[in-house]
Amino acid sequence: MCGIVGAVAQRDINEILLKGLRRLEYRGYDSSGLAVVDKYGHLKLLRRVGKVSVLIDAAQQYDLTGNIGIAHTRWATHGKPTENNAHPHVSGHIVVVHNGMIENHEPLREKLREHGYTFVTQTDTEVIAHLVHWEQCQHSGAFFEVIQRVVNVLRGAYGIVIMDIRNPGVLAAARSGSSLVIGLGIGENFLASDQLALLPVTRRFIFLEEGDVSEITCCTVRVWNQAGNSVKREEIISQVKYDAIDKGLYRHYMQKEIFEQPQAIKNTIAGRVNHGEVILSELGFGADALLLQVQHVQIIACGSSYHSAMVARYWFEAMAEVSCDVEIASEFRYRKPTMRPGSLFITVSQSGETADTLSALRLSKAIGYHSSLTICNVESSSLVRESDMALMTRSGAEISVASTKSFTAQLTVLLMLVAHIGRLRGRCKRIEESIVHALQTLPSSIEQVLSLDQLIKTVAEEFLDKKHALFLGRGDLYPIAMEAALKLKEISYIHAEAYAAGEMKHGPLALIDAHMPVIVIAPNNQLLEKLKSNIEEVKVRGGLLYIFTEKDTVFTASKNMKIIRLTQVEQIVAPIFYAVSMQLLAYHVSLIKGTNVDHPRNLAKAVTVE
Ligand code: GLU
Repeated sequence: MCGIVGAVAQRDINEILLKGLRRLEYRGYDSSGLAVVDKYGHLKLLRRVGKVSVLIDAAQQYDLTGNIGIAHTRWATHGKPTENNAHPHVSGHIVVVHNGMIENHEPLREKLREHGYTFVTQTDTEVIAHLVHWEQCQHSGAFFEVIQRVVNVLRGAYGIVIMDIRNPGVLAAARSGSSLVIGLGIGENFLASDQLALLPVTRRFIFLEEGDVSEITCCTVRVWNQAGNSVKREEIISQVKYDAIDKGLYRHYMQKEIFEQPQAIKNTIAGRVNHGEVILSELGFGADALLLQVQHVQIIACGSSYHSAMVARYWFEAMAEVSCDVEIASEFRYRKPTMRPGSLFITVSQSGETADTLSALRLSKAIGYHSSLTICNVESSSLVRESDMALMTRSGAEISVASTKSFTAQLTVLLMLVAHIGRLRGRCKRIEESIVHALQTLPSSIEQVLSLDQLIKTVAEEFLDKKHALFLGRGDLYPIAMEAALKLKEISYIHAEAYAAGEMKHGPLALIDAHMPVIVIAPNNQLLEKLKSNIEEVKVRGGLLYIFTEKDTVFTASKNMKIIRLTQVEQIVAPIFYAVSMQLLAYHVSLIKGTNVDHPRNLAKAVTVE
């Protein structure tokens, strides 16, 4: 969620820390802080509530030079977002930053109180600082051994970086559930929760694995695995673009990412479709034999990824003729799910670090799923590392909290997977050819939706005074209505709900009046006539209708019924195509409402806590 940056170098590092925090802002946070040790061994600590720019402004007034330091953007889980609760936290000579949450902080706090520690914040993180301090005072031994003892008693999710003021040449780190990466420099080394933070200083990275403890100095990097053994982790040269977090000429990241979708989808399908065939060779040797045995597909995801999975359910059953269930990760992991024989376990996540989805994957192994596949945007992520097979969405870094291009890229990958599994199962070759054809024409269809930006903006203007909205769809467009409602809620704070249009008469029709905008996704497919009856039900009750449809459908606009006509699209990819129009609508409503498009309140990008 929030971010960590750490550096140990032979030059001044405070700029590197502050720039790094800037580059992590997209993850969502409420306060920030940094701690450096200067050449006299003095600790300098600065923390502020609000934007990183507030911290940077404050930093101008102090001398924060030093060769070692740690910095943090906080997304509060325990204790309000105040200056005092902002990280880093200090216990004697120990300074800590932490991402995630410590579930057993209460009993640990009690114990530490008995040892004489007083707590000055409401955070769970302060427990870690005191624990490290206590452990270090109790037993002699190397810094990493102290950290190993501490992480053994921590429960929950954490990425932590720790500095010892008395030994200002070393940073220690540990991860479990929250990502941490080491950046390798020449005569300097770094730590961060996301490689994006460190791209200005290095492209060489080591991704820490679950349970790893590490120690870095300006010239050495050492890693120990969960079992406590010294290990060598592979060095990776990052392919992520340096300017991935540059907004360019766009006003917002979300806008940029919406408009990047034609290119993102081209990247997603590049080399994977050819002459009417889908080729997913990156699934690896033996994957086809495994997929051939699949009798059922279980997909697990959260948020927008859950909606892309919901669309895929329609596709798997209709086109690959394999049964498919979709469930929210946080529900799956806390019930007692049974496994259907021959099930393929698929996870979908932009970041690959979504805590609930990761736990669901681990649970799937424990209950006997024989193979797992993840659909993910981040190659170095935990989900990719822990799954048997992975398909990357290749949509490029997504900065805006509200997911757009990674959502449509997930759908694109899922559709290719449906074609692939369908072929293995001996389904009609023509289906695969139609999928490939539809995917190849999709980028230009999306260009046409994007050209309606101004038209959609005028529709959005009518939402200025709206407090609620309903989204309707049928079939594989119903999950797109759900995604549209989520987008609107997330970034404009308008209460929005989605219904399968056929459900309206079972309750939601009671909500209809002249103030309730009802947005209907009405593609030119076999359900259109059914949908028209549902639209009529709303119309005769005085509802305010906005129909998003295609060029050749028959709808007559009236005072209470606006028709927004998009170009004709191949129906197989209609969910991806209409999703883009819904993103534009949410974006423009957010602009009109004046909310924070890229950093909606209370939300964070990669949800690495439960
Ligand atoms: N649980 C910690 C806190 O509330 C860290 C939250 C975070 O990941 O920023 O301070």
